[in-house]
Amino acid sequence: MKTILAGLLALVSAAWYLDLASTTFPANGAFLWIARQEGLYLTGLLSIAFMSLSMLLSTRPVWLEKPLGGLDRIYRLHKWSGILAVGFGAGHWLLKQSSGLLKSTIGVQGRLPKIKYDGLLESLREFGADMGEPALYIALAMIVIALWRRFPYHIWRHLHRVMPVLYLMLAFHAAMLAPLAWWTQPVGALMGVFIAIGVVASIISLAGMIGRRRQVEAAVISVKSEGDVTEIICRLDKNWENHRAGQFAFITFNRLEGAHPFTIASADRGDKTITFFIKALGNFTRKLGQEIKVGQLATIEGPYGRFQLDRHSRSRRQVWVAGGIGITPFLAWLESLQSRPTEFNKVDLHYCTRNRETDSFVARLQILCASLPGIRLHVHSAQHGDLLTADSLKLADDHRKKAEVWFCGPRGLADALKKGLKETWNGNLRFHQEAFEMR
Ligand SMILES: Cc1cc2nc3c(=O)[nH]c(=O)nc-3n(C[C@H](O)[C@H](O)[C@H](O)COP(=O)(O)OP(=O)(O)OC[C@H]3O[C@@H](n4cnc5c(N)ncnc54)[C@H](O)[C@@H]3O)c2cc1C
Repeated sequence: MKTILAGLLALVSAAWYLDLASTTFPANGAFLWIARQEGLYLTGLLSIAFMSLSMLLSTRPVWLEKPLGGLDRIYRLHKWSGILAVGFGAGHWLLKQSSGLLKSTIGVQGRLPKIKYDGLLESLREFGADMGEPALYIALAMIVIALWRRFPYHIWRHLHRVMPVLYLMLAFHAAMLAPLAWWTQPVGALMGVFIAIGVVASIISLAGMIGRRRQVEAAVISVKSEGDVTEIICRLDKNWENHRAGQFAFITFNRLEGAHPFTIASADRGDKTITFFIKALGNFTRKLGQEIKVGQLATIEGPYGRFQLDRHSRSRRQVWVAGGIGITPFLAWLESLQSRPTEFNKVDLHYCTRNRETDSFVARLQILCASLPGIRLHVHSAQHGDLLTADSLKLADDHRKKAEVWFCGPRGLADALKKGLKETWNGNLRFHQEAFEMR
């Protein structure tokens, strides 16, 4: 993710620099006024580039799943790209506000003359200029809400729908206020491509077309609740594309509530049925066990994701770690391996649970692993004082051998394991993580 963001930053800055290098400034131009002007251009350009990337990623582009590592990562990139866009937008706004300070400190002498156009073009430029500020304020507020984790997700999700409109306003602002000379240079071509991508993505979003081609109708054929987990089995219509173990789908039971992502916890059985295990974690999932009935219809969109254990490297030691409900992609994997039990040898599957005695996944895992000789199951029960730590993984025993960890579970556990294992493993560790979060 960092490489993509840094690459985009470098590309945009290079295009801006090419323009800067070929610009002749008036001989009496003051350095600070010129720096402000160029700073405005650079921050504006970076803001629109990152916002266009964020818009593209919001359309759930399946063709980017392979290069970017799955939809959960695409959403993380979408989020950080959006944060950078608003950050550069705020820098752009601050530079705009700095003119008063410059006037009072160095005066207006040496200020670059304002470019004026005629007729319609000038009116459009004024309209574009007026649009930038309110759109930026709203975008800033959206980012604050997105980062404020206590803000209810279901309200944020509805507010977030305003983003394509804000994007169109800001794209218009950028296109109108960019110097006319840019349009015959690489910087203008680059900005044109970004804006075209962002505008198409915004239209797809406003027309409600995101993910539509991957949506199928389904009927609930079984609902069982045990403790705080509900098992739901659905039968999908014939248009459902077969899924791979480890993938997830968005389920909509009710249009107002909208789509929620859940891992498909079963293998592809060839009969168009899929199983979900849903833990009561919030507003919607807490009511699910009582509200969902057999025969109820749902819309399922997917499959998405690349938590594909068969992408593992054969030369690396395989360690699979699941925390709580994060066991769902592994359940799908274990079920799919029943027909090819020798595909993996020497895998350690660690399942972390609160209490092994009351957790129904433990018996299910034991049954699934019994016929898979290459997979050793370790259950870590917190109430019995058995907590999984980087040390207890005992990877240190043979740390000269490269290792690969596939993780699905709470972020805190992932961070602690990653940190501890990286120290021991000294660059020989690969850590694949399925994020159960999209905000
Ligand atoms: C790829 C993926 C796979 C998942 N697989 C499973 C699974 O197999 N079993 C399971 O129990 N949970 C799974 N989750 C988590 C599940 O999606 C959330 O727990 C659920 O959506 C919470 O909804 P809520 O209204 O009950 O909670 P809330 O209290 O409203 O929200 C809690 C958090 O859940 C997330 N969330 C809520 N609504 C949505 C939504 N519509 N879209 C995206 N994220 C949302 C947000 O991060 C939010 O902060 C998965 C999540 C992802 C991203």
